[in-house]
Amino acid sequence: MTTGKSIEKPAAADLSERIRGRVLLPGDDDFAPELDGFNQISEHSPDLVAVVAGAEDVREAVSFAAARGLPVAVQATGHGPSTAADGGLLISTRGMRGVRVDPATRTARVEGGTQWFEVVEAAAEHGLAPLNGSSPLTGVIGYTLGGGLGLMARKYGYAADHVTALEIVTPDGQSHRATADQDTDLFWAVRGGKGNFGVVTALEFGLVPVERLYGGGLFFAGEAAAEVLHAWREWTATVPEDLTSSLALLRLPDVESIPPFLRGRLTVHVRIAYLGSAEDGDKLVGPLRAAGPLVVDTLADMPYTRCGEIHNDPTEPIPYSERSMMLRELDEAAVGALLELAGPGADCIDLAVELRQLGGAVGRPPKTPNAVDHRDAAFALSTLSLPDNRPPLVVDGMAAWGTGRRYLNFLASPDAADLTESGYEPATFARLAEIKGRVDPDNLFRFNHNIAPRPRQA
Ligand SMILES: Cc1cc2nc3c(=O)[nH]c(=O)nc-3n(C[C@H](O)[C@H](O)[C@H](O)COP(=O)(O)OP(=O)(O)OC[C@H]3O[C@@H](n4cnc5c(N)ncnc54)[C@H](O)[C@@H]3O)c2cc1C
Repeated sequence: MTTGKSIEKPAAADLSERIRGRVLLPGDDDFAPELDGFNQISEHSPDLVAVVAGAEDVREAVSFAAARGLPVAVQATGHGPSTAADGGLLISTRGMRGVRVDPATRTARVEGGTQWFEVVEAAAEHGLAPLNGSSPLTGVIGYTLGGGLGLMARKYGYAADHVTALEIVTPDGQSHRATADQDTDLFWAVRGGKGNFGVVTALEFGLVPVERLYGGGLFFAGEAAAEVLHAWREWTATVPEDLTSSLALLRLPDVESIPPFLRGRLTVHVRIAYLGSAEDGDKLVGPLRAAGPLVVDTLADMPYTRCGEIHNDPTEPIPYSERSMMLRELDEAAVGALLELAGPGADCIDLAVELRQLGGAVGRPPKTPNAVDHRDAAFALSTLSLPDNRPPLVVDGMAAWGTGRRYLNFLASPDAADLTESGYEPATFARLAEIKGRVDPDNLFRFNHNIAPRPRQA
């Protein structure tokens, strides 16, 4: 062990004695690898890392930080970077895993560092599925705390709407179990307020009775972007809530790791998850298949355990910046504007420009209110680009159709904290800031999509 920037070696050794996991300081062999995450756009540089093995470790680590006024960062997989840790303590939850499924109540309980593929596999043994997103590699907690817009979103709503209980270590080092009846402010705020209120050590949530679906992707040549986008827009107005889809304009680099048909060219990728029969699914997607020359068609009946194949998100770490804007509507003019900004011939640098259809259950308020807004949005627009200093042209260019609100799970960049307020309606943000003022008055949990604490209004 070497000495960290401002942490005395004996203090770090004392924390190390108190936890089952490990404490790492800059210079330790495992320090840098432990900081590595999926999105490498920003690098954490904490004074020390606590690699926690359970909730008791988290309590010790947070108390250690609180006693010294050290800011705290939390990392599971690194799929959702925002403000990178600059000094302070980074709590790495990636070793804190575990899933327990209760088929009788159709619920799952997961530990703080669990990834979605683990829940998908455990739930499938009981004919159930969770409300995971496009990549089974994202962390359950980070995804759900940001809302959680999944493959079956239109049928079942946000993942956060299905949380029944959460266990959290707040910045004072205390553990809380928050439910609809207990610690209700915390229960409301954490479901949507992301990592601002402490470290979630366990999450319990409902599962849905889904064993299979009809899903996959339709890939069209980029030259057909206008026909496909217009056809998809019209088609989304006709489909049932059992069907959730998205469309991405992909401009992927000409590199070995990308399938040849996608390399170095514009491709339109429509992703579909339909909960009805394959026969009905085939009929439903008929008009889309006819929208342009298909390059690849992977739509098929599949067990839910293969749900990662619907989007086929990248699995290897890359540095990228992600922006988002919720859209009120997608009319013909909006599609025209999007094609100008990102269609064939556009000066677009984004690797992916994605539209996800919302509506259905994501448009309805949950049974137990939470801090996830956007119930009025019809589509989620997001862009993914390699680090670049250019302004986010596509998102800004679509502002006329935007709700003015961003979906924070699709906002990953070093300036994410400056944009956090735009993730919420003003009343939601004010309540979150007031709860933050009570739970974390010194803003120890600030390396995230940060909500600055606000004193309670008289
Ligand atoms: C390829 C890819 C696909 C995605 N698909 C979807 C999708 O379909 N739908 C969707 O809604 N989102 C999606 N996302 C976004 C993703 O859900 C968020 O970025 C999420 O925050 C990732 O969480 P993580 O723990 O994996 O990442 P990390 O970078 O490790 O964590 C991100 C943040 O989550 C918070 N956090 C994580 N664990 C805890 C904890 N135990 N306690 C408190 N706070 C915690 C912290 O604030 C942390 O800074 C996707 C992201 C990627 C890269």
